Amino acid sequence: MPKMYVIGNWKMHGSKITNCRLIEGILSKLPILTKVDVAICPPFPYLQQTSDKLFRRPILLGAQDLSCAKEGAYTGEVSGDMLRDLKTRFVLVGHSERRAMHNESDQVVANKFAAALEADLIPVLCVGETLEQREAGHAEQVIAEQVSAVINAVGVEALSKGIIAYEPVWAIGSGKTATPLQAQHIHAFIRGLVREHNEAIGSDLSILYGGSVNADNAATLFGQPDINGGLIGGASLKADSFVSICLAAN
Ligand code: 13P
Repeated sequence: MPKMYVIGNWKMHGSKITNCRLIEGILSKLPILTKVDVAICPPFPYLQQTSDKLFRRPILLGAQDLSCAKEGAYTGEVSGDMLRDLKTRFVLVGHSERRAMHNESDQVVANKFAAALEADLIPVLCVGETLEQREAGHAEQVIAEQVSAVINAVGVEALSKGIIAYEPVWAIGSGKTATPLQAQHIHAFIRGLVREHNEAIGSDLSILYGGSVNADNAATLFGQPDINGGLIGGASLKADSFVSICLAAN
């Protein structure tokens, strides 16, 4: 059975003061969850602060990106080992905002996935089609390419140490959530694709949905057979909404 996760992606939001309030708000409202692992991914400068606040608490730490390289002359980059040093467990790779704004290709994303595994982090591979690609009927093809690039680079066995997040680009920050059936269709497609390579790895793979998930729609989305939790943007910045989403996954 795939494990359930709810991961908050704060993107470029926060300050020392607001982070403190948000983390304390979530921790005070979140009961012990038995089925779902919860993580939050603050911006890099706040990883240490968040790591300290989450010490011995039931929320894990994630990061939003990492370098393909292990160390060296890479100004502005952050390595997997550095993230690990701060007790980070998860790292997003290939978020659509990075693919679109920083020209991250499928190959770069595959290299980041490999770098995350090498640092003993759990990579969360983000995939998803744009509205244009969906309307042209190319959603499955785009997603197949994004997933296959990683399988070809690191082998399907490596996928068993990671997570996939399906985030249709048109649903991110737009308030236009994919319908549970639209999301389920693509999740089943991704699982099928991985199962063609390895039946057991495909069956056990956690596939999260992301894109305008909120406290009202989370339960229906997470009720779909191939949706194993969520990657949450805007709603992870409000303690009440984030906790409700975590409860819906449990
Ligand atoms: P929203 O939940 O704000 O749509 O963002 C989704 C996302 O991009 C999470 O990585």
